[in-house]
Amino acid sequence: MVLKFGVIGTGAIGQEHIERLSKKLIGSQVVAVNDINEASAKEAVKKMGINAHFYKNAHDLINADEVDAIVVTSWGPTHEEFVLAAIAVGKPVFCEKPLAVTADGCKKIVDAEIKHGKRLVQVGFMRPFDSTYRQLKAALDSGEIGQPLLLNCKHFNPIVGDSYTTDMAIVDTLIHELDVLRWLLDDDYKSARVIYPRKTSKASGHLMDPQMVILETTKGIVINTEIFVNCMYGYDIQCEVIGENGIASLPEPTQVVFRKDGNLQRAILVDWKKRFIDAYDVELQAFINNVTSGQFTQGASAWDGYSAAVAADACVKAQQTGNQEHISMPATPSFYRKK
Ligand code: NAP
Repeated sequence: MVLKFGVIGTGAIGQEHIERLSKKLIGSQVVAVNDINEASAKEAVKKMGINAHFYKNAHDLINADEVDAIVVTSWGPTHEEFVLAAIAVGKPVFCEKPLAVTADGCKKIVDAEIKHGKRLVQVGFMRPFDSTYRQLKAALDSGEIGQPLLLNCKHFNPIVGDSYTTDMAIVDTLIHELDVLRWLLDDDYKSARVIYPRKTSKASGHLMDPQMVILETTKGIVINTEIFVNCMYGYDIQCEVIGENGIASLPEPTQVVFRKDGNLQRAILVDWKKRFIDAYDVELQAFINNVTSGQFTQGASAWDGYSAAVAADACVKAQQTGNQEHISMPATPSFYRKK
C-alpha cells in the first residue's frame, strides 16, 4: 500500500520531508503541496523532480480525495488550524513541532482526537528516534547506573538570526529537551526556573543568551539544561545522566578522527539537519507504519505535544518572573496510555 501525502509548508524542513517521503521511505508518495508562497513551493517540487499538485488553499489540500495523510511543516502558529482540520475529516496528520503555539491550542487538538475516537496525530519530536538517545535510554532502563538523580544537558547552536527572541530559547529550542527528557526518564516535570548567566557579546541586543533552565521532575530528578544559541563553534547536543552507581552520557555522533598537523581532531557538526538526519527518516517511516497498520504505537502523540507545551509555558513564565514556577500536568488520559 502506498500512502499518498499532502504537505503544507514547503520551507526548510518541508522540503526535507517531501524528499524523504518521495525518495527514501517505503510506502509513501507526495501527491499534493501547499504553501503561502506559491512560486517557491512549485520551484521546490520541480527541483526535486516530484510530480505533486499545488493547492492554493491548505484546506482544499486536506479535503482532497487524492490525499490520504497530511504533513504540516508550515509556520508554527498555523499548525493548530491545519491539524484540527485534518482530524475533522478523519485523516492522519504528522505535525512538526510545535503541535500548537499554546498549551490551550494543543489541548483543543487532544480533545478533538479523543472525540474522533481513534489516534490520528503524530508530533515531529524526532529525538526519541535518534540512535544515540536510544542507546542512552537502553542504558538507563538496564539499571546499570541505578536511579537517575541529576542531568546536565546542553543545546548549543552556532548562531541565530536577529528574529530569534529570548522566549524562542524555550518554545523553539528547549521544547526538544522537554519532549526527549520526559521520554528518557519516563517522568513528568514539577517545576522550572531560568537563570541568565553573563550575556555573550555575539547575541542580538534583545536576546538573552545563554540561558540555564533548571527543571525538577515528579521523581525529584533535577535537570540543568544550558541553551546557548550563539556558541559560534557548532551544533552541539549533550546529555549526561548522573545515577546512584555511575554516569551515562549521550554518545557523540560518529565522526572520523584525524591525526594531522600536530593535532588529534574530530569535527563537531554545525548543521542541525545532519545531526538528526537518520532520526527524521525513522520517525516519518514510523508514521507511515502507524497509519498503514491502523495502530499508533510509535512516536510522539498529541498528548506528548500538549505535555511539552504545558512545561514550556511554565519555563517562559519562569524567564519573566525569575522565580521557580510550578508545572501542573494533568494525568494522562487512558486514550493515550501505552497498552
Ligand atoms: P520555514 O523554512 O520558514 O518554512 C515554513 C514554510 O511555511 C514557509 O515556506 C512559509 O512561507 C510557509 N507558511 C507560512 N504560513 C503558511 C500558511 N498559512 N500556509 C501555508 N504555508 C505557510 O520554516 P522551517 O524551518 O521549515 O520550520 C517549519 C516548522 O517545522 C516550524 O514549526 C519549526 O519549528 C519546525 N521545525 C522542526 C524541526 C525539528 O527538528 N523537528 C526542525 C526545523 C523546523 P513564507 O516563508 O513565505 O512565510
